[in-house]
Amino acid sequence: MTWTTVLTVFTALLALRVAADTWLDAQNRRHVLANAATPPEGVREVMDDATYRKSVEYTLAKNTFGQWQGWYDAAWLFIWLGAGLLPPVYHFLAGIFGPSLWGQAAVLCAVAIMLSLPGLPWSWRSQFHLEARFGFNKSTPQLWVTDLLKGAAVGLVLGYPLLCLVLWFFHWQPVWWWLWAWLALMVFQLVMVALAPRFIMPLFNKLTPMPEGELRERLLSLAGRTGFRCAAIDVIDGSKRSTHSNAFFTGFGRFRRIVFYDTLIAQLTPRELEAVLAHEIGHYRKGHVPKMLALSAFASLAGLWLVSWLAGQEWFYSGFRFNLTDGVPAALLLFALSADLVMFWLQPLGNIWSRRHEYEADAFARAALGESAPLVTALRKLHEKNLSNLTPHPLYSFFHYSHPTLIERESALRAPLLE
Ligand SMILES: [Zn+2]
Repeated sequence: MTWTTVLTVFTALLALRVAADTWLDAQNRRHVLANAATPPEGVREVMDDATYRKSVEYTLAKNTFGQWQGWYDAAWLFIWLGAGLLPPVYHFLAGIFGPSLWGQAAVLCAVAIMLSLPGLPWSWRSQFHLEARFGFNKSTPQLWVTDLLKGAAVGLVLGYPLLCLVLWFFHWQPVWWWLWAWLALMVFQLVMVALAPRFIMPLFNKLTPMPEGELRERLLSLAGRTGFRCAAIDVIDGSKRSTHSNAFFTGFGRFRRIVFYDTLIAQLTPRELEAVLAHEIGHYRKGHVPKMLALSAFASLAGLWLVSWLAGQEWFYSGFRFNLTDGVPAALLLFALSADLVMFWLQPLGNIWSRRHEYEADAFARAALGESAPLVTALRKLHEKNLSNLTPHPLYSFFHYSHPTLIERESALRAPLLE
C-alpha cells in the first residue's frame, strides 16, 4: 500500500464520519422542531408548556454547539494526521526526551497533552455559556481550572508508568508484548474500579456517607431484600459543578458502593429514590457490569493485537508521514487517533446492548418495588430537571442513546408482566 492510499482512506473515513454526524444532527434538529409547537402525546404529563419549550431550546442549542465542535475536532484531526503536522512535532519532542523507554513514554504524554489543548475553549464555552444559559452551571472559572489541572495530574501519574510498562513489554517480548500489555491493562482496570471511589473521586468531589435516618434505613432495607450487599451508600456533592442529577454504583466485591448525587436526593421523594436504587441494583443482579467489562476487555485485546500488527506495517507509518523506525510508540499514538473513525460505526451496537440492560434494570426495579409508578415518576422528574429531549429522531436515538427514551421506558414499564 502506498502512503497516498492510506491518506485517501483516512480522509474518506473522516469525511464519512463527519457527514454521518452532520446528517444525524440535522435529522434530530428537524424532528425536534417539528414537534416543538404541539407537544406529542405523553409529553404534557412530563413537562408543562414552558419547561417543554425550554427543553426544545436546550436541545437545539446543544445540537448546534455539538455540530460546530464536531467539525472543529475533525478539522484538527485532519491537520494533525492528514496535513502532517503531528510528525514534526512528535520528532521534535522525541529529540528533547531522548530514545530511552522513559523518554518515549514522556513523548506520548506530552503529545496527549498537546492534542487536548484545542478542545479546551469548547469545554469552557459548554460550561460557562451553554450550560449557564439554561441554569445548569454551578462551577466557577477557578474550579474549572483546578479540575483541569487535577485531571491532567491524575492522568499523568497513572498513565505515564502504565505507558512505560507497555513499552518495556515490547523490549522484553517483541512478539507477544501486546498480550502482556493487555494483562497489565486488565489488572490496572480492576484495581482502578476498586480504588477510584476511595482515592480518585475524592480529589474532585466530597463523598459522604448518607446520614442516618429514615431514607437510609429504607434504602438499606431495599438492598437487603434484593440481595445486594453493599459496603456503603454515599452522597456526592455534584451540586458543586452542575444541577444535573444522577446515581450510579461503583466498585466490586467489598468495595461496592452506591453513590447518589445530592441534586438527585433534593429532587426525588424517598419512594422514588428507592426505585432508582432498585434500578441500579438491577444492573448488578443481572450481571451487567461483568458483561460490560468482558466486552471492553475483548475490545482492548483486539485493539492491542491490531496495534502490534500495524506496528510492523510500513504503510501505516508512511501514510501519516512517520517512519517504521518510530516503532511501537508512534503506532500506539496513530492507532489511538484513528481508531475512532472505525469505532464510530460500532457505537450503535454497544448502545443496543446498553439499552437492553436498561430495560432489564427497569423491569427488576418494578418487580422489587411491586409497582412501576415510583420509577415512572422518578424518570419523569429526571427528564424534566435535566431538560432532556423528549422527542429525539428515532435514528438519532438508535445511534447515540445508551438509554431508551423516556417514552420507550414508560411503555415497557406499563406493559403487562410476562410471568
Ligand atoms: Zn441504568
